[in-house]
Amino acid sequence: MIRVIITGAKGRMGQALVACAKNFRDLEVVAQVDKGDDLPVAIGGADVVIDFSDHAVTAGITGLCARHKKAIVIGTTGHSKEEQAEIIALKTKVPMVWASNFSTGVNTLFWLTRKTAEILGPDFDLEVVEMHHRMKKDAPSGTAKTLAEILAAARKQSLDQVARHGREGIVGARTSTEIGVHSIRGGDVVGDHTVIFANNGERLELTHKASSRDTFANGALRAALWVVGQKPGLYDMQDVLGLK
Ligand code: NAD
Repeated sequence: MIRVIITGAKGRMGQALVACAKNFRDLEVVAQVDKGDDLPVAIGGADVVIDFSDHAVTAGITGLCARHKKAIVIGTTGHSKEEQAEIIALKTKVPMVWASNFSTGVNTLFWLTRKTAEILGPDFDLEVVEMHHRMKKDAPSGTAKTLAEILAAARKQSLDQVARHGREGIVGARTSTEIGVHSIRGGDVVGDHTVIFANNGERLELTHKASSRDTFANGALRAALWVVGQKPGLYDMQDVLGLK
């Protein structure tokens, strides 16, 4: 039996994780931790922490896992560059699965996006559009960032140099190198992502729409079962699904 702690347990994803975990025979949720609860006390009784809380606390939670030799699954998004570096520095000490999106469909979209960019080549204009519920705090979504990173990597570009976040005013003609990234917020949308490949005379769009948080929760729980017993290192959902 794999013993799991969920951090961010009272949140939308935390609640989905607690509910979905009941369907996993080999996994037991031993503690539900939210703001104000004592993770350092609870961690001794667990094999793995699943974190869907807040970007500011992920590095501290990962450090605690490293000190206690526990694995971690990170679903939280919105980390700054400094926070990301702090987490990545711990990869030699703790096995961690870190994914901006745990759904099988989105991980297939990642694969398709890479393949499509390679096939269509540099003549197509690339844009990523995402929509999420009105309560989402970070923008663009972690998944949209991953999609844009995949597109930039396929063109051997640095995303920092080519990302174009929204447009307003007299922005002039689109350059051939930029990768547009656009965030829409509203209602209770769980998560929609579209990658647009546009050329003269034709346009290809790849779209994924999540209608239930259970898809992310089930993926994260699957990752938790997988990561326990792995060597310290930074893994993603493509590793868990064997897509690499
Ligand atoms: P939410 O706001 O509903 O829940 C976050 C929870 O974390 C809250 O209950 C909050 O009290 C708690 N929290 C804050 N600080 C904490 C701390 N120090 N210790 C423990 N708990 C703490 O948000 P949500 O919609 O559940 O999303 C949570 C995160 O997961 C976000 O970053 C979101 O973008 C991300 N997310 C990732 C995926 C994925 O597949 N990777 C999918 C959906 C959401």
